[in-house]
Amino acid sequence: MKCPFCNVEMIHGYLNCGLTLWSERKHKISLLPDAKEKYALHLGTPLLSPHHVESDCCPKCKRIILDSSDFENNLK
Ligand SMILES: [Zn+2]
Repeated sequence: MKCPFCNVEMIHGYLNCGLTLWSERKHKISLLPDAKEKYALHLGTPLLSPHHVESDCCPKCKRIILDSSDFENNLK
């Protein structure tokens, strides 16, 4: 896919990650979302190997785009 910011062909790959949370707020200690915040891409501690989130990275502007729809979230 082409980068929507600079139109350069993106590199397909994987976000290799452990315990992960995208949230509208900063978490200082725990990565457990509370009932009031909007969150996405909530991944628990991996058991055997890291999580692999399919995504695309732009080699020019370094932005990363990923589809978080298959992962735990509370967005509506
Ligand atoms: Zn770009």
